[in-house]
Amino acid sequence: MKRVTAEAVRRAWPEEVAPWVEALCEAGDALEIGLHLVGGPVRDFLLDRGVRDIDLIAEARGGEGGVTDKSTAETVARKAALPGVRVVVHRRFGTVRLSKGSVSVDVASVRSETYASPGALPTVEAGQLEQDLTRRDFTVNALALPLNAVASRGRSALIDPGRGLDDLRDGVLRVFHPRSFHDDPTRALRAARFAARLGFGLARGSRNTLRAALRDGAFGAVTGERYRAELEKLFLDPRHGLDPARAIRFLSETHVLAALEPGLGLPPSARGPLRRLGRDLGDPALGLAAESPWIAGLRLWLAPLDVALRRRVLRRFAVRGAAARAINGHAKEAERVLARLARARGRGSIDALVRELPDETLLALAAEAPTPLRRRLLRWIKEDRRVQLPISGRDLVELGLEGPAVGRALARIRVGVLDGDIKDRDEALALAREVGARSTGKRARGPGGRSGPARGRGGG
Ligand code: ATP
Repeated sequence: MKRVTAEAVRRAWPEEVAPWVEALCEAGDALEIGLHLVGGPVRDFLLDRGVRDIDLIAEARGGEGGVTDKSTAETVARKAALPGVRVVVHRRFGTVRLSKGSVSVDVASVRSETYASPGALPTVEAGQLEQDLTRRDFTVNALALPLNAVASRGRSALIDPGRGLDDLRDGVLRVFHPRSFHDDPTRALRAARFAARLGFGLARGSRNTLRAALRDGAFGAVTGERYRAELEKLFLDPRHGLDPARAIRFLSETHVLAALEPGLGLPPSARGPLRRLGRDLGDPALGLAAESPWIAGLRLWLAPLDVALRRRVLRRFAVRGAAARAINGHAKEAERVLARLARARGRGSIDALVRELPDETLLALAAEAPTPLRRRLLRWIKEDRRVQLPISGRDLVELGLEGPAVGRALARIRVGVLDGDIKDRDEALALAREVGARSTGKRARGPGGRSGPARGRGGG
């Protein structure tokens, strides 16, 4: 395992945020506020998986910064005064998000139940940070790395209250105490996510802890919204190498799914499609922008279930409205679209069938289509959907086309381009004139207002 030092981590994090963190560290040193890198980024650095999101915690250690309270993160962020960086403060949670474009850094004030007695002794202070860490889900997520001089004072290079470093080395997820899953059953879904993403197992003692929470009915007390939020995160993680089939199998084997809704499991026929969905979600070449990949996931996972069970599951996960309708209607929609795709001849007709489908639907279809159809769908996603037409709607309006004729002509030109029948702008214009002529019953105007014969091509 990598040796961790603040210097080595500094070299690993995204270039854009490095000056922000430096400024925060300096501001913290001036105010007697310690800054630590914490949680996911420390874990991922140690596993050599790259550091993406920067999560910091701020801990006041006397002086101008006083004792840590919910304003500590904000105090240090304001002092750093980074030009052009947006600062959003969540006072209720004591957190601050610094961002510019798509880059962000989160700073949280150290949280503990017993802090805030002014003039607290340093030992109590150290306890505050430890308390924040031991409130976390798994020991491997509870590592903190002091970044500035104030944070490092009297501390080791890595703060590790749960022996998380050993657990990282052994590949295990371990909760901090025997009531951990009772306190927050959604941690079981987090366990599934990290287990699948990191290839870790749940430590034996933690399995017993989970079993006890299941036995005591703890999972019934949590709202569907909270479980759904965890499922949403689970289907975002294929970007980081998670196989959703593996995560859901973990939940099935540990009997969590049955506790959430009796009868729910991972149907064997959903495994392959979920695995392929995971691969596609993690494939940058597909360039997909599915905002809700969990909908694709639930389409595939729940399609093989009987109708009544699926409806109960959706209610349990608080899935309603359009998402619930899409998931419930998946099997029929997939059958219909895949049958048409199997009959489609040419890239243009595939395009016409799938162009209007949301990314979530496309992903689910590609994941369960038989291999030849899957290939055609993936080719459409990678190449054809991005094809630029040699003319625009405005060109067509200039030609004299109007209303629905413009859309019809563009659609026909698209088919022609994808099928290789239209190779340039002139050929596209010729087809447009033909469509215009048909729709008005007479010839459309030529480029200079002249009327001319239409040259039909492209499957006219
Ligand atoms: P990722 O790498 O996916 O961002 P992460 O470890 O940063 O994962 P988040 O969901 O962003 O995870 O949570 C940030 C930190 O907050 C975690 O590392 C974990 O320590 C803590 N945390 C989040 N949810 C819980 C929870 N339900 N119970 C306890 N601790 C939690």
